[in-house]
Amino acid sequence: MQLSLFDLHCDTALRMLSSAKPLYDNPFAVSLAKAAPFERYVQVMALFTPSALSDEDGWAHMIRMWENLCADESVTGKRAHICTDFATASSNSPTLLLALEDARILNRDIRRIDRLYQMGIRIITPLWSGVSCIGGAHDTDEGLSTFGKNAMLRAISIGMIPDISHASERSADAIFELAAHALRPVIASHSNAFAVCPVSRNLRDRQIQCILDTHGVIGINLYTRFLRKDGNADVTDVLRHMEYFLAHGARDSLCLGCDMDGSELPVELSDVSRLPRLAEEMLKQNYSEDLIRAIFFENAYQFAKKYLN
Ligand SMILES: [Zn+2]
Repeated sequence: MQLSLFDLHCDTALRMLSSAKPLYDNPFAVSLAKAAPFERYVQVMALFTPSALSDEDGWAHMIRMWENLCADESVTGKRAHICTDFATASSNSPTLLLALEDARILNRDIRRIDRLYQMGIRIITPLWSGVSCIGGAHDTDEGLSTFGKNAMLRAISIGMIPDISHASERSADAIFELAAHALRPVIASHSNAFAVCPVSRNLRDRQIQCILDTHGVIGINLYTRFLRKDGNADVTDVLRHMEYFLAHGARDSLCLGCDMDGSELPVELSDVSRLPRLAEEMLKQNYSEDLIRAIFFENAYQFAKKYLN
């Protein structure tokens, strides 16, 4: 079957900056050349700054990463384009959707939210690890700080999509509340089911329901340790998570958020060119072609058309 791909998360932009390699052809898990077999291809590019940098230095680093991506030969040569409006987008060329991962680099300057929007960033994953000026991540019991709430309120009100991947339960609750007031969706771009693999980065049943209630989307993460606690994961573990989400009403919300170039992947799914292997396994387990297309592309695409314009 002919496949399209809409992947909700990768860390390739950071790799491109640190090793000066292009998006088209590179040794990473994600490249345009490796994704060429897909009929349509939308890739969320997360801009993530390593925790070794201070919040302020991290802001400058993130700007450099963005400039590096905008100056990439595929983007300047129009082989790929950065998209902020999916409702009227007409081009079928590879499409990049920008996300900020770990908003601590706002460094308590709320005006930076508007700057991110001007840069074309439309998804904001406010937390990553520990406690920052934004609030508590998945490995803490802290909620959002006052600054974190104001920043997320601003982000949501100007049309950015809040992402609870990496958030603590309390921070996620605060994000759900802010989004509910604004009648906007909440997503988990790269998280699996806690009931299937109980690690703090995965989604509790209650959180899955909250995302579905907001008409948000959930991206399955291929990181082996979020698929299986012992990390010994293969393609069948991906299906165990999918089945759980599907049994909990996620038919129109389930997507892929592969987390390539930022995590360890099952050998058989080790780069974007190998994802058809996942579709093969789904076919073998009697998933309909419609459902496979929905998870690989259509659910995320319909979401983007509705909420990113
Ligand atoms: Zn992440």
